[in-house]
Amino acid sequence: MQMRKLTLPMIGMDDEADPPWDQLGVLFHILPHLVAAIAILSSAILPYLAGQTTKVAAVIVILSLQVTMRACADLAFRRRRSSDSLQLWLRRFTTVSLLSGLAWGLALAILYGGASPEIQVVVLAVACGILQSCAARAYLAPRSTLLVILIVTVIINIAAIREGNWIMVPVCAAYVGFLASYMVHLIAMDAKRVAAEKKSQVLVAALADSNEKLMHANEQLRHHARTDALTGLDNRGSFDQALRHRLALMRDAGAPLALLLIDVDYFKRFNDTHGHQAGDQVLQQLAGLLRARIKETGGVAARYGGEEFAMILEGQQAQTAKDFAEDLRLRVSALLLPLDDGGSASLTASIGVAMACPTDDERALVARADRRLYDAKAAGRNRVCDTDQPERLASTA
Ligand code: GH3
Ligand code: MG
Ligand code: MG
Repeated sequence: MQMRKLTLPMIGMDDEADPPWDQLGVLFHILPHLVAAIAILSSAILPYLAGQTTKVAAVIVILSLQVTMRACADLAFRRRRSSDSLQLWLRRFTTVSLLSGLAWGLALAILYGGASPEIQVVVLAVACGILQSCAARAYLAPRSTLLVILIVTVIINIAAIREGNWIMVPVCAAYVGFLASYMVHLIAMDAKRVAAEKKSQVLVAALADSNEKLMHANEQLRHHARTDALTGLDNRGSFDQALRHRLALMRDAGAPLALLLIDVDYFKRFNDTHGHQAGDQVLQQLAGLLRARIKETGGVAARYGGEEFAMILEGQQAQTAKDFAEDLRLRVSALLLPLDDGGSASLTASIGVAMACPTDDERALVARADRRLYDAKAAGRNRVCDTDQPERLASTA
């Protein structure tokens, strides 16, 4: 079995471990001293009944002084100045602890000396209880506690030796040794608890940090999932979702909604002439134009696929969707697209416009806008079409 080496800190107030203020408050508390005084006084009942009133009176005086001193110390600690140092109060605690040890030792020794064996047993039991209780709080101030234990046992031993009872010496030494090892164990357990607390704090902080990173990564992932990488507009999936949602709202509110499908004319030729990268820049420029228009009017703009874009217009804008599309077509044709050779090029677009009816689902609305886009292309491109052509109407009739 691996032995763990534990060392009890040296007695001495200067290198007393610094318990924080709240722990020091526990050490200064008057309650354990009242309990100790009551315990000692209860062991004085038998001597009192045996007529040893002088002894009992002396014990009462000593305990009254000790309890009063501890009450004052407790009060003073509670009213301490915020500028007071921890070291100052640790020194004060050590002083009142030693005085308490002295008072307990004297009171117990007075009751023990010259008493019957029954009374001596009661006194020793009370002494053991008090010392055990001190040792249980030892991890807060181990040096002072050990000193108090030594003072009490030495004084009781002196009383015993004066009566020729030498056997008390090894018994008390063994008892102090037992309490010391108990304290070492307690201190080690407390150190482990503090270390585990620190470790869990570090783990909790790391967990919170990685949680935050995960949330950020999730947000980025969500953004990428709904954004077109080349243009930064909503992508097709995001657009389909938006159209479904807005159509449902339109049905509920009865507000107008229009769909525009915008397709660049002869874009393959543009790519073939100026290169694919120039084509990409064109798509980005067109996306910028659509984004700016949507910013002004509201609605949704998305890259529908390839060189095709889609827009949803609502309310007032939807009612004048044809004018909006016409204005957009003119803006596209007015764009000057800079080329690598220093020159510039221009392009046109065809636009199909469809107003949503309450019976429309997204497929029906897209199909109608697509048909009109096809008609605009068939009619020579660079135009807006917002009605079905008569021949198409005739064929579907
Ligand atoms: P139309 O007027 O009938 O629409 O003719 P078009 O050439 O525009 O249409 P077509 O469908 O024949 O060709 C579309 C072209 O768009 C072909 C494809 O290379 C190009 N394209 C699609 N996506 C991209 C892209 O992300 N970047 C670039 N540079 N070109 C693209
Ligand atoms: Mg095209
Ligand atoms: Mg196309």
